[in-house]
Amino acid sequence: MVFYLQVASRARNELIDITGQVTELVKKSGVSSGVCHLFSLHTTGAITVNEGADPAVRADIARFLATLVPVDAPFSHGEGNSDAHVKTSLVGPSETVIIEGGRLLLGTWQAIFFCEFDGPRTRKIAVRITADE
Ligand code: ZN
Repeated sequence: MVFYLQVASRARNELIDITGQVTELVKKSGVSSGVCHLFSLHTTGAITVNEGADPAVRADIARFLATLVPVDAPFSHGEGNSDAHVKTSLVGPSETVIIEGGRLLLGTWQAIFFCEFDGPRTRKIAVRITADE
């Protein structure tokens, strides 16, 4: 089954913890053992799994990527958001998390993030939850 998550970003570069929303979808699916695949439907927003406990980590990732790919680098694309496109490809559009015992199988410190690189915007993430046979 496919669900859609909506995420509203508030900054141009921002990692948003969506673990709670994904957890709710897994519960709603009733799947106890399987996989949860998340796919960002955008060219300037990505998905990653990283530390959720210390907010400084997500801020560091967003800031470091902004340093790595400066908004004012000499790009060809004329929309002024080429840095966002490049950052999205560096991070990638998707993640897959195992579902076990009806729960997302994440490490103690892990969380799932939508990475906004051209906000603020309203974003959509496709979530496919598949049960083991
Ligand atoms: Zn663009």
